[in-house]
Amino acid sequence: MTEEILRVEHVSKQFTGVVALDDVSLTIHKGEICCLVGENGSGKSTMIKIISGVCTPDKGDIYINNHHYKKLTPIESMREGVQVIYQDFSLFLNLTVAENIAINEQLFTGKQLVNWNEIYRIAKEGLTKINVTIPLDSLVGTLFTADRQLIAIAKAILAEAHIIIMDEPTTALTQREVHSLFRVINELKEQGICTLFVSHKLNEVVEIADRIVIFRNGKKVMDQDLKCLDIKTMEYYMTGRKIDTSAIEQDKIDEKAKPLLKVENFNLSHGFFDVSFELKPKEVLGITGLLGSGRTELALALFGEMPADSGKVYVEGKEVKTKSIKDAVKYGIGYVPQDRIREGLFLNQSIGNNIVVSIIDSLIGKLRLLDSKSIKRTTDNWIKQLGVKTPSGEQPAKSLSGGNQQRLVLAKWLASNSKILILNGPTVGVDVGSKAEIHKLIRTLAKQGMGILLISDDIPELMQTCNRILLMRKGRIVKEFKRVKTAEEELNKELVAGDISNSRKTE
Ligand code: ADP
Ligand code: MG
Repeated sequence: MTEEILRVEHVSKQFTGVVALDDVSLTIHKGEICCLVGENGSGKSTMIKIISGVCTPDKGDIYINNHHYKKLTPIESMREGVQVIYQDFSLFLNLTVAENIAINEQLFTGKQLVNWNEIYRIAKEGLTKINVTIPLDSLVGTLFTADRQLIAIAKAILAEAHIIIMDEPTTALTQREVHSLFRVINELKEQGICTLFVSHKLNEVVEIADRIVIFRNGKKVMDQDLKCLDIKTMEYYMTGRKIDTSAIEQDKIDEKAKPLLKVENFNLSHGFFDVSFELKPKEVLGITGLLGSGRTELALALFGEMPADSGKVYVEGKEVKTKSIKDAVKYGIGYVPQDRIREGLFLNQSIGNNIVVSIIDSLIGKLRLLDSKSIKRTTDNWIKQLGVKTPSGEQPAKSLSGGNQQRLVLAKWLASNSKILILNGPTVGVDVGSKAEIHKLIRTLAKQGMGILLISDDIPELMQTCNRILLMRKGRIVKEFKRVKTAEEELNKELVAGDISNSRKTE
């Protein structure tokens, strides 16, 4: 075993009657990527606070670099090389990239004059260490979340981090960005820096972890090499219940029914080629493929956000042209994006406003006034139907948890009476319990007669919810799987087969 960097032993912590951690021990070794997973409220953040000295345990011991602490202060923790990447990244938005990265070093020199050459040199060094390039002159406020995160990491490295802790770092990232973050974490590993990666997204965790630690209700319930684990087992340990997928009801699809959606020889240059398929009422049709397979482009083309170059689309037998989102909505096509936070919701607006935004026209009364009663009725109805957990529809959307935000996005499209719903990665960023509920919800919607296109690369998810699954590779549909006949492993193998041939090509 490699050198031990951090050991927490028999740590307990209570907050006014709530047991946040109960006799938890945890060890992290040099260069290790340890993923700490657990449902919301399982004690993950509390553990981070204890390691970073923000919060003192009621009981237990902390050893960092073989130094023993009963009480650890934030300064001591940092001196031992612990760096936490907080979700807001603690950056100055009105300063440049270079200034943000180098600010600590410059403060410590105590000099009155700012040495710009030095600032640039330090900033460049920081970014080089994690092997990323971001223009040093850009204002941090103008950058994407992913870049801000990388800057925070570069800063942590310059502060001589031995352990980098990230609390749910992928929440606001797109899938592509998640992969570049993973590349950086692996880069850190090469340099012997360990990462404590806190997440509840098992599909991500299995890509990056060396070891998995699972918390449930403040207790450590699992601590194992990733190699010995599969997602099902992890889900079981996280939730304490088996998520039974076999019992998911598959509605009989009327093979003779007129398709809700029919797509013929659909093309978008650099996106997808010669795509044809049909979607029947009550059908959940999966579209899968790796990043860059064209699956998202296809969704966006159908939704009019990225109009296709050629091909035909029929909704209930009538040819339609979805040249804009407005067209798509008019034809009853709804779209729930993957990055719900950036694309799907107005986070500062109330839950109610978010639900009615797409049907505002129909709620305007004869006098062109908004009918607040029917708004409230509509809102309350959908909150109830989808089980959105909130005291009232007047709360801002941002007060909801990830899973509930995702339900809210669904509610918004359901309220708009969509017949066809395109879901792009509907459970990305959602914890396991809510995930199962969203799957059930998707099935319920299908049962009511909707046609659903489910775009996802989460194979268990596809297997649990879809009637059929289309596999895309390099912009083309290359294979169709019938759920009932397809083993999960087979689909997995096919998906990865595409990956191997792709990576050979780009080498
Ligand atoms: P996680 O990060 O896994 O979602 P937390 O560590 O944030 O979980 O929380 C664990 C439990 O402790 C939860 O029940 C939470 O409500 C409670 N808790 C955390 N911080 C506090 C606090 N400052 N005051 C009261 N209760 C808290
Ligand atoms: Mg937390």
